[in-house]
Formats: sequence, C-alpha cells, structure tokens
Amino acid sequence: MSENNQNILTDIERGDESCVLRFADNKSFELGYIKVRLACPCAKCRPRQENKQLILDFKESLMRMQMTKPVVGVIGRYAIRFEWPSGCSSGLYSFKLLRQICDAGGQAVPEKQ
Ligand SMILES: [Zn+2]
Repeated sequence: MSENNQNILTDIERGDESCVLRFADNKSFELGYIKVRLACPCAKCRPRQENKQLILDFKESLMRMQMTKPVVGVIGRYAIRFEWPSGCSSGLYSFKLLRQICDAGGQAVPEKQ
C-alpha cells in the first residue's frame, strides 16, 4: 500500500460537535470541530498558531463560541474547505493537513466492517 494513501481523504461524516474523517489507508478518526478550527490555515488564523501561548488564547476564544456544524466544500481532489458559522470561511484544509490534525489529536475509530 502506498504511503500516500494516508493523505487521501475518502469520506467525511459531520456530527454536531465532531466529524469522522476516513482516509484511503483505511484509518478513520473522530475529530472535534474545535481541533479542526484551531488548525485553520487561513491568513487570519495562522498568526494565532505561532506559539503555545497564542494557541491557548485562540483555543479559549473558540471555546467561548458556540461550535456549530460547519459547511464543508470539496475543493478538487486534494482539499476541503470548512465554513465556520462563527468566523472564517477561507481556510483550505489540504487532505495532508487534515491527516496531520487527525494524527495529532484525532481519536482513532475502528474500521468499518
Ligand atoms: Zn481561519
């Protein structure tokens, strides 16, 4: 199996507070939206991720907001865009970035039978 499979998103299921992401290497992860939002790669959010203190502040301000279910748009074959009702909508999440977020903070979900 190619190592690149881990960076191919095959499916996303949105729940109310988290989503389940499935990748082509048959790994699935449940990820709270706050973790996705914390890693938002848009120009507005990136400066808030530069060091641990900034990330903590960012997280606190996110926790004060209602994390509502985002709208997800697929961008070509390599990325998706989350549109957050509570804020930015210009963050493009490459599949590779999503996998990194999953590996760092996602909860592994048993494989579908
Ligand atoms: Zn953002």
